[in-house]
Amino acid sequence: MRTPPGVSASDFSAALAQFEKAVGKQWVFTRDEDVDLYRDSYSPYWHEPEERVVSAAVAPESVEQIQAVLRIANSYKIPLWTISTGRNLAYGGSAPVLSGSVVLDLKRMNKIIEVNEKNHYALVEPGVSYFDLYRYIQDHKLRVWIDPPDPGWGSPVGNSLERGGGRTPMRDHFAAVCGIEVVLANGEVIRTGMGALPNSKTWQQYKYGFGPYVDGMFSQSNFGVVTKMGIWLMPEPEAYRDGRVMVPKHDDLVPFVETLAYLMNSEIVRGTMLLESPVLSYRASKGEGILDKPGGPSVGELDKLAQDKNLPYWGAELRFWGPQNVIDAQWEYTQEKFSAIPGATFKEGRSYKFPVQLQENDTVTRVALGIPNLSVFGLISGTQGHMDFSPIIPMTGEAVFEVLKVFGAAYAEMGVEPKNQFFVLPWAFFPRAFVLLFGFPIEPDVEKNKRTREVFQKLVRVAAEHGWGEYRTHTTMMDTVANVYSYNNHALLRVHETIKDAVDPQGILSPGKSGIWPKHLRTKKA
Ligand code: ADP
Repeated sequence: MRTPPGVSASDFSAALAQFEKAVGKQWVFTRDEDVDLYRDSYSPYWHEPEERVVSAAVAPESVEQIQAVLRIANSYKIPLWTISTGRNLAYGGSAPVLSGSVVLDLKRMNKIIEVNEKNHYALVEPGVSYFDLYRYIQDHKLRVWIDPPDPGWGSPVGNSLERGGGRTPMRDHFAAVCGIEVVLANGEVIRTGMGALPNSKTWQQYKYGFGPYVDGMFSQSNFGVVTKMGIWLMPEPEAYRDGRVMVPKHDDLVPFVETLAYLMNSEIVRGTMLLESPVLSYRASKGEGILDKPGGPSVGELDKLAQDKNLPYWGAELRFWGPQNVIDAQWEYTQEKFSAIPGATFKEGRSYKFPVQLQENDTVTRVALGIPNLSVFGLISGTQGHMDFSPIIPMTGEAVFEVLKVFGAAYAEMGVEPKNQFFVLPWAFFPRAFVLLFGFPIEPDVEKNKRTREVFQKLVRVAAEHGWGEYRTHTTMMDTVANVYSYNNHALLRVHETIKDAVDPQGILSPGKSGIWPKHLRTKKA
C-alpha cells in the first residue's frame, strides 16, 4: 500500500482506521484493484513513475461524515483530492495533482434535492450525474432542460466547478450556478448568496446575496468541498431549428466573426457554435493539417483551392431555441446580417417541436437538445485518449488567423507535426470569447507521451506570449498554466496562496490544484 507524502505508515494506518469508523469500513478503499480505479486512464505519464496515483479513497455520504474525514485528515496532515463523479477525462480524470493523496470521493452524495419547474433550477449534491438529473426530469415529466457537456457522464457539480461548457443557451456552466454549500477544511459549513440567510426563499433564484460574491473562489480551487449546488436550467423551449451559414473566401472570416459576435452578443444566436472550414478540412483529409505551416500555401492559393473544389472557406451551424415564430425570425435576421458578405450562402437544417421522439439515426447533436450521451468517445480512435489544450482567444477573425499562424510556426520550430485527436478551430463555448480545443493524443508509448508533454508546455508558453491563456487544464499541467498567469509578479497566485493559508492552514485540500500549493509544499515562482 502507498502512503501519502510526508505521512508515516503508522499514522496512515491510524488515519485509515478512523476514516473507516467515520464512513463505514466498506467505504474506505485501499486495495490496489480499488485504488487503481482512480488512475487517470488518459494520463500523459501512463507507465511512468511520475504518474499521479492515489494511496486510498474515502467515500462519505453526508456533510457530517465529510466533517469527520476532514478532522482526521487535519490531525494526520493527509492530503485529500476531492472529486464529484471523477469523470474529468482529458483534464486529469479522478487522479490528484499530488501523488499519494487520498481521494475524497463524493459519489455517494447523490441526492437531487429539488428540481423547480416554475423558476427553472435544480439543487443537487456532487454525486448526481447529468444522466441522473436528466432521468429524474424525464421520470417526473418536468418541462426543463439540463445542459450536459459532451460526454454527459460527469456531474453538474464537478463540471460547473471546473467551468466546463455545453451547447445550449445555458452552456456556460459556472455562470448557471446559483448558490452553493461548502464545507471548509476546518469543518465549517457555509452557504453562499441568499443561502446565508437562514430560511432563505431565494437561494437558487438570486446569486449574489449580500456582500462579497465568493462562489467563484470555490471553482477550479482547493478552498473547500462543495456539497450542494444550485444550477439554473433552461425552460423546455417550444421549438428548435438550426441552419448553416457559409462564406466563400479566406478573408471573409473577419466580417463573418464580427457578424457572429454581434448576433451572439445580442442573444439572437445563442448556444455554442463551432467554426468550420470545409477547405481546411479538405486539406486535413489530404494530410496537410489545419495550422499554417511556414512556406505553406498563400491566401490566394487557398482561395483558388476553395473555388476549384467548390467548397466554402468558412461556415458554422447556428442553432435557435424558443417559440417557433421567434426562432424563425431569428434565423431570417441571421441570414439578412450575413448576406452583407458577398457570396454568403445558407442551408436550412433541422427543426423540432418539443417534446420530441428522435429517430435513432437522427444526426442532431444530442447535447444541443439537453440530452446527455457518450457519443463523443467515438471521436477517439487509435490512441489511448487525449489531453486537452484549451486556450481562450478573442472572438475575431484576425485572432483566428494569428492563432493558425503562431501555432503553425511553433510546431515547425519544434520540428514536429501537429497531432490532434480532434481539431482546433474555435468554439464559442462561452460568451464573448472563443476557445480552441486541441486534443493531444495520449499513447501507450512513454517516449511519444514525453514529447507530447514538451509540445504542450511549449504551446502554453507561446500562447501566453500572445496573450492567450487556458480556461482549464490537465492536473499534470496546472503549475505550467498557473505560471503564465503572472501579471505583476504572480500577484493573483499570491492572493490565492494567502486565501489557501487562511482557509486551509494544514494544506489538506487538493494540494496543487490550479497551481495553488499549501505553504509546506510551495516552491518559489520563476
Ligand atoms: P465530474 O463529476 O464532472 O466528473 P470531477 O469529479 O472529475 O467532475 O471534478 C472535476 C474537478 O473539480 C476535480 O478534479 C476537483 O478538482 C474539482 N471538484 C469536483 N468536485 C468537487 C467538490 N464537490 N468540491 C470541490 N472541488 C470539486
